[in-house]
Amino acid sequence: MLIEGAAGPDLIRVDNLAKHFPVTRGAVLRRVVGTVKAVDGVSFAIGHGRTLGLVGESGCGKSTVGRLLVRLIDPTAGSIMLDGTDISRLDGEAMFQHRRNLQFVFQDPMSSLNPRMTVEKIIAEPLVVQGVPVAEQRARVGELLDLVGLAPAHRTRYPHEFSGGQRQRIGIARALATNPRFVVCDEAVSALDVSVQAQIVNLLKRLQRELGLSYLFVAHDLSVVRHMSDDVAVMYLGRIVEIGDRRRIFAAPAHPYTKALLSSVPAPRQSARREARTLLSGELPSPLNPPNGCAFHTRCPVAIARCKVERPELRPVETGQAAACHLLD
Ligand code: SF4
Repeated sequence: MLIEGAAGPDLIRVDNLAKHFPVTRGAVLRRVVGTVKAVDGVSFAIGHGRTLGLVGESGCGKSTVGRLLVRLIDPTAGSIMLDGTDISRLDGEAMFQHRRNLQFVFQDPMSSLNPRMTVEKIIAEPLVVQGVPVAEQRARVGELLDLVGLAPAHRTRYPHEFSGGQRQRIGIARALATNPRFVVCDEAVSALDVSVQAQIVNLLKRLQRELGLSYLFVAHDLSVVRHMSDDVAVMYLGRIVEIGDRRRIFAAPAHPYTKALLSSVPAPRQSARREARTLLSGELPSPLNPPNGCAFHTRCPVAIARCKVERPELRPVETGQAAACHLLD
């Protein structure tokens, strides 16, 4: 099921996207002994200038979705429409033309920035790849430093000379170098102190307003997702189990897993939330051997017999909200 971007036509539209990784054994023969379905048929749309927050526990496949969308990895199945063009199978020159529109901000700015390169070289890297003349690269780096709140003097310094927040600003400047239209922020503020997180979130929101960017905001911190997103998708073991308008998801979650995730977030009206508290027990099952039926049934506090044998599909709950749970029948 696709939830439409609420404001105008979609920039990104993903349909039945899948990424399966073969599991091999043996150093020489590398026999395939199984398959991890990291992403197993997800569909959603992101409108121009909108943010979809993608949440779930570690290992649920949300980062893999981000990497698929910017074609850092190839999908096993499904389509990725960028402004009406399916980019899921493009390669070589055809993909090169689209790559400048798709960028990625990584979680750990320290490990994603080359410590031997100056800030100028780091930010200019995507421009070099795109064949932009040197004089234009220098001018663009100056613009980008200003855009993300860094000083002109910073261009000759190295990553280790900056704080975590400043390094993430460098990572954002690099992502914006080619004037992209879509940016995946993969746990982009998770490694930062809370006060610095707020600064980077506000920077990303300001850049979205000024540049008309669309974001996929991948995070496990629901407080940040609530602040950042227009729509929210909740993933569990490679599939979306609930998706919809952020206000509806936070005010009236329909899926037991979403309810459990939200129970762990400090609520503004804590007393009201406490009454309906759902605790998430147990570990995420191995994606190599996921449970039959509803993959959440081994941890679900309200599971029924049917849940062990039949997988629920996403179905509309309200306008702009859908969830995959038998109890919604
Ligand atoms: Fe729980 Fe069953 Fe709904 Fe899955 S389908 S979330 S196990 S009630």
